[in-house]
Amino acid sequence: MTKLSKRISGINEAGGDGWDLYVRARDMAAAGEPVIQLTIGEHDIRTDPAILDAMHRAAKAGNTGYTFGPGLPPLRAAIAERIAARTGTPTGPENILVVTGGQAGLFAALTLACDPGDVALHIDPYYATYPGTIRSTSVIPRAVIAHPEDGFEPRAEAVEAAADGARALLLNSPNNPTGAVYSEATLTALGEVARARDLWIISDEVYDSQVWEGRHLSPRALPDLTDRTLAVGSMSKSHAMTGSRVGWVCGPAEAIEAMTHLATCTTYGLPGFIQEAALHALKAGDDFEAGIAEPFARRRRIALDLLSRQQAVAAAPPRGGMYVMIDIRPTGLSGTAFAEALLDEERIAVMPGESFGTGASGHIRIAMTVADAAFADAMTRLLAFAARRAAAPAT
Ligand code: PLP
Repeated sequence: MTKLSKRISGINEAGGDGWDLYVRARDMAAAGEPVIQLTIGEHDIRTDPAILDAMHRAAKAGNTGYTFGPGLPPLRAAIAERIAARTGTPTGPENILVVTGGQAGLFAALTLACDPGDVALHIDPYYATYPGTIRSTSVIPRAVIAHPEDGFEPRAEAVEAAADGARALLLNSPNNPTGAVYSEATLTALGEVARARDLWIISDEVYDSQVWEGRHLSPRALPDLTDRTLAVGSMSKSHAMTGSRVGWVCGPAEAIEAMTHLATCTTYGLPGFIQEAALHALKAGDDFEAGIAEPFARRRRIALDLLSRQQAVAAAPPRGGMYVMIDIRPTGLSGTAFAEALLDEERIAVMPGESFGTGASGHIRIAMTVADAAFADAMTRLLAFAARRAAAPAT
């Protein structure tokens, strides 16, 4: 084999991609061990049969050909309508590019915003693929730490201090892994930095349907930020459609047109029958999305109730998303050591905070993605394990 490009070999530059523990737990489960997986952000339900029926009907009716372009017009219109209703910001089909999941939306937005060698700022703790996604566009990731004492909301002055050479600021609220939902004050202050430094804001809003406290605010809805914001959305989390790969980028019409060329050169668009199923799902409205989100609200209450009955470890209640993060520093273990030992001793798999950067070290992230009773049992055993470790901290 001749040599690989620096661009492709650099994607996983740091070696591991943070998913080692998940892979180990998956292998253990495949070998027949009774592992409880609280690692990845995927629902314990499958896509609703009515959505699959719509997909099947569309395919049978012949929507199996090429669908190049920015997306089926009625789907673009339905996505625009959802965004306009939620943000109060005028949004039309011309502001929407349909892409293969939020992940492809991030890639498109970064490609639009940055040239090779530019810097994209992102907040740490971060969704584990961010640095690799940024590097895959030949852009340099630069992390800005958000702190537990600030509820993991980033400080504008820290972003400003890191902004030399930057062209984009990647934000994620509601946040994975921390559950932070950024306040209007935080977003306004970050918007001022973006304006002063002429940055694109890439706003990853894939958890916008899972808000437990406060309200989701898109930077696109703030005065003067509409034209510099690329909001990335997805039906993976809101509609339990992770495998269908339906996402979008919402931004100025000119930016959408430019990114359409990228979509043509990469995926050539989403399968038409999947787009029709997505349209069917969006037409089910807010109540359907609330129903998909409800189990996470319930399990969050279970987790907070169990946490309130013990003193060994602490957690800030997640304000959004499908995860709860626990500060396990009283056990004397790192997040990685805790997660490894928990998997070995209790057969419970959680993500080490260190998988999400340095800001969440000494924490673990628990995905609330198993049925309520199994979740309560796993949380009970996890907290008993933490209490044992805290009583005899590692030296
Ligand atoms: N952004 C965040 C913060 C995520 O947690 C995820 C998936 O877990 C994604 C984007 C990608 O989602 P998808 O490509 O399925 O839309």
